[in-house]
Amino acid sequence: MTTLADGWFTEVFQNEGTAFSLQVKRKLHEEQSEFQKLEIYETETFGNLMVLDGCVMLTTRDNFLYHEMMTHPALFTHKDPKKVVIVGGGDCGTLREVLKHPGVEEAWQVEIDERVTRLAETWFPELCEANNDPRANFFFGDGVKWMTEVDPDSLDLIIVDSTDPVGAAEGLFALDFYRDAMLALRPGGILVQQSESPLLHTDTIIKGIHSDMRKAGFEHVHTLPFPQPVYPTGWWSCTMASRDNPVRYFREEDAANRPFVTRYYNPGTHHGALAMPQFMLDALED
Ligand code: SAM
Repeated sequence: MTTLADGWFTEVFQNEGTAFSLQVKRKLHEEQSEFQKLEIYETETFGNLMVLDGCVMLTTRDNFLYHEMMTHPALFTHKDPKKVVIVGGGDCGTLREVLKHPGVEEAWQVEIDERVTRLAETWFPELCEANNDPRANFFFGDGVKWMTEVDPDSLDLIIVDSTDPVGAAEGLFALDFYRDAMLALRPGGILVQQSESPLLHTDTIIKGIHSDMRKAGFEHVHTLPFPQPVYPTGWWSCTMASRDNPVRYFREEDAANRPFVTRYYNPGTHHGALAMPQFMLDALED
């Protein structure tokens, strides 16, 4: 649920008894697509804000935290990622980070709602600056179905940058989807998924993700927490999984010598994210 009163946009998390607010200057855009309600606001201090179906997706000011942590840990864990698929990620910020890696030869963004990308081009142009890179490819359709049809043994990295596990995104947090992802990955391949809030969702969603990924054959599964001020509790996570790649080790020297600029990611923040809090280890380790 969201409210707009006295110049403040508020997303209410009724079940948790909390809310998050941003002071806004004005609403820039609103529409109902085939899939969801899309809203864009101009805020006082966080730049532009995108809201989908009443859930805060991103702001200009803090999206770098999420986009860098959804990409660089996995890209520097894989030995030589060449073909990358992003499921969801319509704002194009994840695609931009992936294409910073010169070794990536081909990246696909598989987003169900083309309107998210069109609005990002208008209101978040900095996230779309790699969209004309010759390695960038776009498919607008359901990522769950796409994964059932992709060639087996054809991908190095799958990044699930989706909305919460309800509605169209529910099938992206499911055993069948993980089985299809497993078939699509080449040896050494990695699946990484946005996995909600450590504080709110460790015993429910994150535990379910670990259990289903392991059932699908991903022997190595690890959750990396990171800060994300505009999401519930301000603390978020991604979960990395592989059949044969021990995802707790990464190409630290390559990460230190990365030939591109990051604002949050470096080998130190990568190590920090790998150190799971004790309550998560207690809940998730076998
Ligand atoms: N950072 C955000 C978060 O964690 O809340 C996610 C941002 S990104 C905009 C999420 C995207 O996933 C949305 O644009 C949504 O349309 C897309 N999406 C949801 N379900 C999908 C599906 N089944 N296939 C492809 N894209 C999907």
